[in-house]
Amino acid sequence: MSELKLVFDAPKPRTKAPLHLADFSAEERKAKAKELGIPAFRVNQISTHYFTHYNDDPATWSDFPKDLREMVRKEFLPELITLVRSVSCDDGMTRKDLWRLHDGVLVESVLMKYPERTTVCISSQAGCGMNCPFCATGQAGLTRNLTAGEITAQLVAAARSAAQGDLPGGPTRLSNVVFMGMGEPLANYNAVMRSVRNLVTAQPDGLGIGARSITISTVGLVPGIEKLMEEGLQVRLAVSLHTPDDELRDSLVPINSRWKVREVLAAADKYAEKTGRRYSIEYALIRDINDQASRAELLGKLLKNRHAHVNLIPLNPTPGSKWTASKPEDERRFVKILEDYGIPVTVRDTRGREIDGACGQLAAAVKSES
Ligand code: SAH
Repeated sequence: MSELKLVFDAPKPRTKAPLHLADFSAEERKAKAKELGIPAFRVNQISTHYFTHYNDDPATWSDFPKDLREMVRKEFLPELITLVRSVSCDDGMTRKDLWRLHDGVLVESVLMKYPERTTVCISSQAGCGMNCPFCATGQAGLTRNLTAGEITAQLVAAARSAAQGDLPGGPTRLSNVVFMGMGEPLANYNAVMRSVRNLVTAQPDGLGIGARSITISTVGLVPGIEKLMEEGLQVRLAVSLHTPDDELRDSLVPINSRWKVREVLAAADKYAEKTGRRYSIEYALIRDINDQASRAELLGKLLKNRHAHVNLIPLNPTPGSKWTASKPEDERRFVKILEDYGIPVTVRDTRGREIDGACGQLAAAVKSES
């Protein structure tokens, strides 16, 4: 384990992010308002502005007493994320945003508009401690956990952008959320869960997005998966497997040295049983590394009769990496073998490729500029 450089305990931030409405439960918000001498019904107003209108600037709230606005801004709605840069591609249908947090740390989110849905991919940590060698975020290590407020702020910014019609084709409603940006969500469990509660709670106390439209993607932290299945939520679980054999997975997903393929899949099976939801297996196809017919066969055997769906991701090469995406014919062969085993399989679209779409690449690019 010692040479493994895996980081579970995030370094403590130098300065704490200011507390925000989104860090508190509905009860805690009321209690805090009471302490501040703000009547309880005003909490509904504050929450409505934030979670329904995506408006976090009390100075613009004409229905709110002028003498309380500054206090509410300071105590409930401090600015947590500031836009540094946005880059678009796919005819504007994909937009990647780079955010600076209060302590200068950078994180990314990606908004993607499809004909039938609008999805945001958000970050749960600044950096990541899981050290997967093909992932740009993994290369930079873990800087710190994000707070629930910082995660929720990315969600609210995305919902606002969608509602304002910032992406071509007019206003839409943010419909889907994937925890597939920077970080390992299950290594920042409490903050992630609080942000999930902010998502699924009906308005005015939350964004009112169904749990079934939320995906949490993990390297396979078994205790985290077990905790998640006790939450009583139908959140979709995605497991980043990337290979069916422990030997290769030990190097592609180093946490495999702690929880083996068999244990991770057993936890995912339990998750499916408990929630009634099929889980996803994420599999980045890396040329000549994990895309052989023999590995497809092994994966097919492993997943046959399991409640799983395979999402193949053509590797998005990170700068300086010796690895690249599989040849098209090898990708097709991989798909075919899985289908022959009766396993539902999709190949992920390559949204955001030309804007350093792979996890962590934009933050790395901006860091190296400064
Ligand atoms: N830590 C979580 C979530 C973040 S990454 C996890 O590992 O699941 C979201 C997905 O993108 C993961 O499946 C991850 O393995 C994959 N990924 C990371 N870098 C990639 C790259 N360069 N090309 C393709 N997929 C990548």
